[in-house]
Parts: sequence; C-alpha cells; structure tokens
Amino acid sequence: MPSADNVMEKLVSLAKRRGFVFQSSEIYGGLGSVWDYGPLGVELKKNIKERWWRSMVHEREDIEGLDAAILMHPKVWEASGHLAGFTDPLVDCKHCKNRFRADDPRIKGTPGQPDAQCPACGSRGTLTAPRLFNLMFKTFLGPVEEAAAVVYLRPETAQGIYVNYLNVLQSSRQKIPFGIAQIGKAFRNEITPGNFTFRTREFEQMEMQFFVKPGTDREWFEFWRNQRMQWLVGLGVRPEKLRWHQHTPDELAHYAKEAYDIQYEFPFGWQEFEGIHNRSDFDLSRHQEYSGKKLDYLDPATNERFVPYVVETSAGADRTALVVMLDAYAEEEVGGEKRVVMRFHPTLAPVKAAVFPLVNKDGMPELARRLYDDLRRHYNVFYDDGGSIGRRYRRQDEAGTPFGITIDGQSSADGTVTVRDRDTLGQERVAAERLVSYLEGKLQG
Ligand SMILES: [Zn+2]
Repeated sequence: MPSADNVMEKLVSLAKRRGFVFQSSEIYGGLGSVWDYGPLGVELKKNIKERWWRSMVHEREDIEGLDAAILMHPKVWEASGHLAGFTDPLVDCKHCKNRFRADDPRIKGTPGQPDAQCPACGSRGTLTAPRLFNLMFKTFLGPVEEAAAVVYLRPETAQGIYVNYLNVLQSSRQKIPFGIAQIGKAFRNEITPGNFTFRTREFEQMEMQFFVKPGTDREWFEFWRNQRMQWLVGLGVRPEKLRWHQHTPDELAHYAKEAYDIQYEFPFGWQEFEGIHNRSDFDLSRHQEYSGKKLDYLDPATNERFVPYVVETSAGADRTALVVMLDAYAEEEVGGEKRVVMRFHPTLAPVKAAVFPLVNKDGMPELARRLYDDLRRHYNVFYDDGGSIGRRYRRQDEAGTPFGITIDGQSSADGTVTVRDRDTLGQERVAAERLVSYLEGKLQG
C-alpha cells in the first residue's frame, strides 16, 4: 500500500500531467490556494454538477433552480451574521510574516507571549496576540473607494436563495414544502487553506434550501440526509469511505439547530465535504427584520401564518470532485506491467470513449475518423493514433476513459470494432453502426 501522503502527491502530479487541475497563474509562481481546472477536470466537475442539478431540480417537482449574483447588498451580510460572526482569531509571525489561526495546534506556548513559538520559522516570541479577521473578500462598487461603497464577494450561495425566496415562491406558484437549488462560486479568505483543492479561497457550491413548516423540519432533515448519502453512493464513491459526523454544540454554526457532515476518508484524514443543516427560521427571520419586508407564509390549507424553517444541503463541487478523483485513483499490475487507472463512474468520466486505429494504414485511420466524427455528436470522445496500442490504452486509463474502441484489420471486412472495458480489460466485438446505442446502454446511471 502506498502511504497516504504519497497518494495525495501522486494525485496532484497526475492532475497536472493529465490536465485535471493546474495551479492558478502558475507561470507567475502561482496564487495561494487557488486552482484552475484543465480540459479533463472541467468535464469531470461539469458532469458532477449536471448530475446534482438533474437530481435536485429536474427530477423533483418541488424544487426550483436559481442563479443569483455573487455581489449582494451589504445589508445581506449584516442580516446573515457574516459581518459580525464570520471571523477567526488570528496570529501573525513578525519574523516570517506567516499567519495562523490562534487555535492552530502546531503553535507551542501562548501567542503574544515570549514563550510562543512560530510553527513555520521556529522563532520564539515573534507571534502577535490573537486578533479578529473577517474571512469575506471586500471590494468597492462603483469608482470611489469609500466606506459607503463596500461590497463583499459572497462567502456562501445560500443567502442569494433566501433573499429570492418570495420571488421564486410567487413566480413558480410552489407551495411549502418546496426548495430552491443553486450552483455557484463563493469566496472565503481562508487562513489555513491547503490539501490541494480541499480548502481553497475561491470555490463552487451546490446548495439547496428546502422551506418547510415548523414542526416538520426534523422529518425533512432526515429525508434529506438519506437522499444525499444515496446520491453520493450513486456517484460510485465507496460507501466504506463515507461516514456521518454530527455537530456537537461547540461545532454548530450560529444559524444551525442541528447539523450533520458527510465525511470522506481523505489521505489526510476524515474530513467534511457536504453538510446537511437544519437552519430553523434563523435566515428568513433575520432578513425579515433587516429588510423590513414580510417573509412569512400563509398556508392556504390551514390559514396559518408562519416563517418557514429551512433544511439545507450544502456541498462543495470542488471537494466532491476531489473525493471522486481520490476514490477513483488506483494502481495495479496488468500482465507484469504497472498501470494507473482512474475508475470514474462512466457517467462522471470526462471522456466516455477513445477511438484508436490499430495502425495508420490499410484504411484504418479513415474508418476510425468516421466513427469518431459520428460518436462525438453524442459523447465527449477522444481520437488517438500516436504510439503503440498498449500506450494509448494506458493514457486513457489515466484519464479514466471507460471504453477504448479499436479499428483493426477485421473492421473494414465485417464492419465490427473491438471495445475494451477499462476496468475488466475484457474486449468485445461490436458492429460499428451499433456503437452509439451500445455506449448509451453502458453510460446510463
Ligand atoms: Zn515565523
């Protein structure tokens, strides 16, 4: 078994080599904890988001979609509690200029006192006393950089949903219980980012806020916990690498009544990548108070008025992509040779099939090209005529391509091609004209 650090290093290196993930602005030395998705990575993440959207919005009649702007009225963040509560006590090292959370376990001694030791440079007495720091990115709306023009990059997508709750309710003619789903970027000026794309300063969330009648919130909370775990297992993530973590009273966020994380066993330990939260009526009540607009609901069946409770499912698209990549990564021996293979669920795989002419003569490239042109009207497929067929297979194994289609000497005679399965390595002869429907059967899920 390769060691845990080793797996992370290997994944980071594969991600760069094969075009899943690059460091942002790499030619300038990179930007701290900001990452770019390359040609394969963007497809993988898009497939994850599409599956999420389909299961949340298209397959459910009680959930509507939304795409709110990143910039919002600054009062939103007062109401949400982010301006007041979104802070971490931090300490700076005056010697090496590094910054740490005050509760960083690597700090020895008491920050601000002569005995405290910097975990980065090892100096003693150079750490400042803890001070508060807001994690929201601040910028200015309009040409004048003055206090009245301050706006923030949203630290979560949820607030865009709450402030549009009435708009969506009225325009969609939904009734409670119903939900609003959104995928979008959020930003946090994290102090201790790291572990590749696990904790980053710019990230994408997939959030769904489900509005329910108070008193039914526990039931819906359990419902959504089950749904989310099933969805993740449906992505092909190994169930034994997933577990629940219930928030203790110390861990609960200021808005939450009850919260569970779904954790994955990363090479750096069990960590959260999705949360299910019972946010009670905290958010809508606060927005009602700060905006002066009524956000309560009149139940047409009972004539009761209430401010709905919210059950939230909040997932990181980047973290889910990292989970999927780590879970798919495998090394094995095939015929005495080592291969690295990304065992993506076929529906998530960036490339669905690769087309190879066995040799570049005897009409094989022409046949292969025609097949490729036909297939790519249906799927993201890849054409490769470079090097030995074994090398071409290996390259697609690393990209996680589930099917390799080879056009050989027999193809021009009887119109069949071989289809190689990435995982079983089994080969099947299939009529070229049947390939689209053959793949469709295999790529469903
Ligand atoms: Zn230092």
